[in-house]
Amino acid sequence: MGNSFICPQCGRPLAGVSLHFSPTHWLCAECSGEPEDASRSRLNDRVRFDFPDAGYESDQADARKYLHKGRIYRVANVDVYDDITKLTLFGNKDVQFNSVLFKRLQ
Ligand SMILES: [Zn+2]
Repeated sequence: MGNSFICPQCGRPLAGVSLHFSPTHWLCAECSGEPEDASRSRLNDRVRFDFPDAGYESDQADARKYLHKGRIYRVANVDVYDDITKLTLFGNKDVQFNSVLFKRLQ
């Protein structure tokens, strides 16, 4: 699924990103103007679990169970839906986390 999209603005490969909506148009973190938005992550980007109170209660419960606030994780997969982006992290590959829980590090 991943690796087949590029940023339509700069042409950068959106490695690890799967888009689950149409049209399949998605800007990279740099072109989006919001480089710290974890929903713009790509494969191997670093994100920090900074916002444990963000998202839905179920998102927060998963995060509390598997992650530690302030710790840095590396992105394995990014699944972008209409209204939510889910991140898969190395070391926790069976769980998808809401991107709003994280800050993308540059
Ligand atoms: Zn771009």
